[in-house]
Amino acid sequence: MPIASRVSQLHLSGIRTVMALAAERQKRGFPVIHMEVGQPDFPTPAHITEAGFAAARNGFTGYTPNAGVQSLRDSVAARVSTSSGIGVSGANVCITSGAVMALYLTLMAIIEPGDEVLVPDPGWPNYISAVEMAGGTVVPYKLDPSDGYWMDLDTLSSKVSPRCRAIMINYPSNPTGATVSVEKMLKLLKFVEDHNLQVISDEVYEDFVFEGAHVSALSHASRERVIMISGASKSYSMTGWRLGWVVAREEVIQAVSKLVEPIASCPSSVAQAAVEAAINGPQDCVAEMKAAYKRRAEIAVSILEPAGLLISKPTGAFYAMVDISNSNLNSDQFVRRLLEEKGVAAAPGETFGHSARSSIRISTAASDDDVREGCKRIRDFLSLGNLADTA
Ligand code: PMP
Repeated sequence: MPIASRVSQLHLSGIRTVMALAAERQKRGFPVIHMEVGQPDFPTPAHITEAGFAAARNGFTGYTPNAGVQSLRDSVAARVSTSSGIGVSGANVCITSGAVMALYLTLMAIIEPGDEVLVPDPGWPNYISAVEMAGGTVVPYKLDPSDGYWMDLDTLSSKVSPRCRAIMINYPSNPTGATVSVEKMLKLLKFVEDHNLQVISDEVYEDFVFEGAHVSALSHASRERVIMISGASKSYSMTGWRLGWVVAREEVIQAVSKLVEPIASCPSSVAQAAVEAAINGPQDCVAEMKAAYKRRAEIAVSILEPAGLLISKPTGAFYAMVDISNSNLNSDQFVRRLLEEKGVAAAPGETFGHSARSSIRISTAASDDDVREGCKRIRDFLSLGNLADTA
């Protein structure tokens, strides 16, 4: 009985391969410093977990509307209105099972088979899978590390065909840790108007901008053009609760809500209750996590920058790109050797796009000590120079 070809055509990320290798190494009794996964290392704050428990105990365990409970949609709308400075209502919000589902259903809602979507290189690998699963064609656009991982708009212009419908952007960025200025965002949004595109702005790291305020695409463009995606996973350290959202014009929200039905029926009821408590409760937990991510980024910079290995200083999220071009290994070989010889797990650059093939991504969502020790080992490994390809 054959398995459908869409499965073999799916490009899965190299991060999970490293995770599996690291787990295997640990099983063999060797310790591993984990810098491969983009997952907050903090537990979900207690008052949020409690709200989830309470919801379950009180019988809030049934299906909810497709788009989520109204009170959570309104809470997300209020949060987004405050952070973006534009009025958004619950009708502009659909709650989904994680931002990853928000992304997929958005693409399912706005593109026809064969439509093109501009996708950042380097960028989060799931953008490619989501576009392809929705029947679209990926058109990668390069981000320039020497310009804060920004795009050249003239080059971008040459990539816009009549079939191009949308551009994906992601600031603060996974994998680069880059953020965006208001000036740059305004230029991009003018470009988007001129070329009649939609912007899908993935803002899941919106709470982790180290200097100044987060720049949301929603704040600076006509709401007709912007679809914002975010969620609770990163902001409140809730990756396993699987709760995200789409914020967009009502027509898109109605389409996405309709698509939820055959795929999930609705997001988890107890997770929705927990996230409502997260959004409406004290935000000092978010500030504490942000301070930790900033401190860890500084630790990584202090070790990698003097050695000339940091591609660009991270200004947000919890990632940095490390230059491995003097190693003679491709990024896949490099992360395998790094794991075996130094006990450090990192993600291969290639998995984020062709332009990142001479780099690795480190996640600084690990303890201060692990970030320090992991970066030192990477530096020492790279100082060996041309590592022969013996792996
Ligand atoms: N976008 C980016 C850029 C991410 O890094 C991630 C998670 N790694 C997501 C979206 C998905 O988040 P969620 O857990 O809400 O599905």
